[in-house]
Amino acid sequence: MGASAARRSEFRDTFLPFFSPSIGEEEIGEVIDTLRSGWLTTGPKARQFESEFAARVNSRHAIAVNSGTAALHLALVAHGVKAGDEVITTPNTFCATLEAIEYVGAKPVLVDIEPSTLNIDANRIERVVTPKTRAIIPVHFAGLPCDMDLIMDIANRYGLYVLEDAAHAVGATYKGKNIGSIGHATAFSFYANKNLTTAEGGMVTTDDDRLAEQLRGLSLHGISHDAWMRYSAEGSWFYEVLDLGYKYNLSDLQASLGIWQLRRLNDFIAIRERLAARYTRALSSLVQVGTPTIESQPGTQHAWHLYTISLDTSALTISRAQFIDELRGANVGASVHFIPIHFHPHYRIKFGWQPRDFPNAAVNYERTVSLPLYPAMSDDDVDYVSEVVSDIVKSHRR
Ligand SMILES: *Cc1c(COP(=O)(O)O)cnc(C)c1O
Repeated sequence: MGASAARRSEFRDTFLPFFSPSIGEEEIGEVIDTLRSGWLTTGPKARQFESEFAARVNSRHAIAVNSGTAALHLALVAHGVKAGDEVITTPNTFCATLEAIEYVGAKPVLVDIEPSTLNIDANRIERVVTPKTRAIIPVHFAGLPCDMDLIMDIANRYGLYVLEDAAHAVGATYKGKNIGSIGHATAFSFYANKNLTTAEGGMVTTDDDRLAEQLRGLSLHGISHDAWMRYSAEGSWFYEVLDLGYKYNLSDLQASLGIWQLRRLNDFIAIRERLAARYTRALSSLVQVGTPTIESQPGTQHAWHLYTISLDTSALTISRAQFIDELRGANVGASVHFIPIHFHPHYRIKFGWQPRDFPNAAVNYERTVSLPLYPAMSDDDVDYVSEVVSDIVKSHRR
């Protein structure tokens, strides 16, 4: 404790949060414009956000919904994934990915992660494909794209549906293609702490016209206004419920934020990438700290949603949890991505999974720390966090 007391005088006196959103005057102005327009929920701003988003990620269709979880769920429903089907995904994700699978009554099948990228190990997917497998949900962890060539190849050979969980990966590219234009469908999240936020919100993109039509209908009660509205004498009050739908539409208030956040996305990612490189330069000399994999493939752009370090806990006298406590003591917020799915009681009990079933995700969990990374941070903030990490490591090495 002597070491921390000695460092205390140099600690910043304000807390550096793990995340803080970047909301500009344009977003605020657009929200006010929507409030004054008299049309608050899904309408012209949501349509505009969808078409600009589709253009940005180079997909034919974009359907806005009210969360990333809703995007994942709807994309499974629209494809007809149902009870008895199996869906392959990763243990290194947020529970939402699994919930979508459970909502449709399908069975999740986990494939362990590849330790350097922390993404699903695509080389192991084929081993778990059975006649019941319907879909694969790769999660682009931290914004680093999965091995989509191999995943699409497996999917094509077995006739599987690929739904990308791109909650971390808005703005990312893979070998020259935008994330959002590769799988059969892609789900994005615009939750408050994501790279692009509408406070709460999400999007499904697809090139498939039929799937897009299903998604659009299902996102609002399975209602169709189409043919009847145009051709019948009943006029604009008439609608028909064609399917069991959901109340998953995105409001114009939220879309107002999205329209401007999307315009800032390239700048956001450039700042994230620069700050991430700054962290890596500062931390790579610490032998007890592993820095994240940097994608160097041409045409592949990491979205840098997260900057995760991996502590060599065998070379330290403190645990990962104590490390995070020390960061907090130095006024730095941190987080953990992710507590693996198979560690949560619900999943352990329901599917009988044990920690050793997916050992790479389990090892990552013991060692991983997510440091603050967002466009509102300064170079000084990154330097401060790097110095604190270095101090903690040096005062607790074995
Ligand atoms: C945030 C997140 C989601 C869910 O998004 P919401 O908009 O919060 O519903 C899904 N998957 C991953 C990997 C996430 O990080």
